[in-house]
Amino acid sequence: MSVIRCRECGGPIYTRIFRRWNSDGTVTGRLSSGVRICHIEAGEVCAMVEGVSARIGYPIDRIVVEGERKASRNITCETLSAGRGLLGIIGRSWGGSPVSLKISLAISRSVGFGAPEVLKYIRGRELKLKVQNPFCVPIVVGDLWGNFEALHRITAEASWEEEPGAVTINMVKVRDEMVEEYPDRLSLQKMATLPGDVGFDRCRRCGIPREVTGSIEWDLDAGVVTSRVTGRREVTVMVEGVNAVISELTGELGDEIPGMVQQVEQEYVAGKMEGSRLPDTTREYGVLLDELRVMGMGNPVEVEKEGERLKVRINNPFCEPLLAGRVGGYYKALEGVTPLVTWTPDEEGYTVIEANPA
Ligand SMILES: [Zn+2]
Repeated sequence: MSVIRCRECGGPIYTRIFRRWNSDGTVTGRLSSGVRICHIEAGEVCAMVEGVSARIGYPIDRIVVEGERKASRNITCETLSAGRGLLGIIGRSWGGSPVSLKISLAISRSVGFGAPEVLKYIRGRELKLKVQNPFCVPIVVGDLWGNFEALHRITAEASWEEEPGAVTINMVKVRDEMVEEYPDRLSLQKMATLPGDVGFDRCRRCGIPREVTGSIEWDLDAGVVTSRVTGRREVTVMVEGVNAVISELTGELGDEIPGMVQQVEQEYVAGKMEGSRLPDTTREYGVLLDELRVMGMGNPVEVEKEGERLKVRINNPFCEPLLAGRVGGYYKALEGVTPLVTWTPDEEGYTVIEANPA
């Protein structure tokens, strides 16, 4: 598959067309500025699904699929309603929908979800895909399912079969229009509400920050994105998707879910930092938190260490439990102590996260 890249920095064209790095610590879609996205290690997302599953004692894949499917539907609808709905009129038309599908699948590759291949497509009725290298099966299934439904304004049923390194997804229309089972459970969109002055060193040609092109390796044939710094796989996900999955799990399984997500993330981050002997200074925490901005996770504006207490304020947080887990992970790795972490809900555009020795 040939993909056009920027001649100056090598960033793939879909990244340039669809993403914008903002000065408030967020990354948003370019066509539909109401869609917030973020970059995250694939392992963090997998750890969240597997870690919560392990703590609860049964698989949660179905619930994860459902959360992601809803967010994907919403976001595809929002994208197609851009330009006073013109994009949707073209995108959903008889000739346009195969093109829209092709674009969606190319985006899947460029964000690192894996490499989807169409096995069967009957416009508006049936879609069978085989995805090689899916980074997290329930997220990839939910994403493609919701996308297919929104593209054709239908409700579809989906079944999928996993094999090592691939998943085959079969989607069949069951009725016209999209049915929302629990509309109240839709998570709130996490959009930026507080301005910031985050600066990036951008490519002169395409505007992608050099921190991004310099640290990310895109294998667009495989649909795999890897960090040159850590060597680990990374993905770009919809912020609404992450929050929809957590709220779907909370709705089904109870209020202890956000705390579990925080702990799983804390273990993941601390585990990856094991052996990295860093000084436990306020400055070191600041350096670690810096990466949140280019990832689109938020804008850390205050870091305070008083005795053993660490306090961090993050503006425009993408997801409080995951950020609290990240801060807890840094704390555990730097101090060598498992912390007790609390956080305030984002009501006015920020969260305050506190870590103390447990
Ligand atoms: Zn460039």
